[in-house]
Amino acid sequence: MLNIILMGPPGAGKGTQAKKIIAAYGIPHISTGDMFREAIAAKTPTGELAASYINKGMLVPDEVTIALVKERLSKDDCAKGFLLDGFPRTIPQAEALEKLTKEINRPISAVINITAEKDVLVKRITGRRVCKSCGAPFHIETLKPKVEGVCDYCGGELMQRKDDTLESLAVRLDAYEHQTLPLVKFYADRNLLHDIDGLIGLENVFKIICDIFERIK
Ligand code: AMP
Repeated sequence: MLNIILMGPPGAGKGTQAKKIIAAYGIPHISTGDMFREAIAAKTPTGELAASYINKGMLVPDEVTIALVKERLSKDDCAKGFLLDGFPRTIPQAEALEKLTKEINRPISAVINITAEKDVLVKRITGRRVCKSCGAPFHIETLKPKVEGVCDYCGGELMQRKDDTLESLAVRLDAYEHQTLPLVKFYADRNLLHDIDGLIGLENVFKIICDIFERIK
């Protein structure tokens, strides 16, 4: 069963790999970052609360994030697998997820941890552009769209995320180091962790992910 968690610091290439995984395996993509951005665009109360944290690069409080994932993961389309992207990001979130996956009998089968060094992450994030409509990721140097400022997939307009500025990024990397890195041990202790070097190229990373999936499917 492909009940997968995709982890890694901002800029490690999670979004790009998530796109490739869902295209190849057809499992639902549960990205808490995307869910928050949708809530912000729709101006819901959760969206307004989340924006006050996200725009500063801070993590949204655990109880808000956990509630969102609980609702999503319990839906029927997750019965045949799912890809969690950007969740969990703290130990309380991981503990809540462990409890929930037991309750709904959808245990996590693997945690993919994409790693990369800090200076590389800064370069990747500050040059990142995303499609306003479909969220597809691009980069001003390494993953240029065919037409500047236009999404290759849906023709939408490309933009820089508010939290991809240097200032917010420093806060996000700090949050990653202090709040998210402890999860590496949490999942290693449960024999679920697969570390992949995010600097070996996106096709190579994807190939390793596919090999892992073939083993656990
Ligand atoms: P992402 O697109 O995954 O980089 O998420 C963008 C932002 O949304 C993060 O910097 C956080 O502010 C917020 N966010 C996403 N997922 C979580 C989470 N699991 N816990 C807390 N905040 C989150």
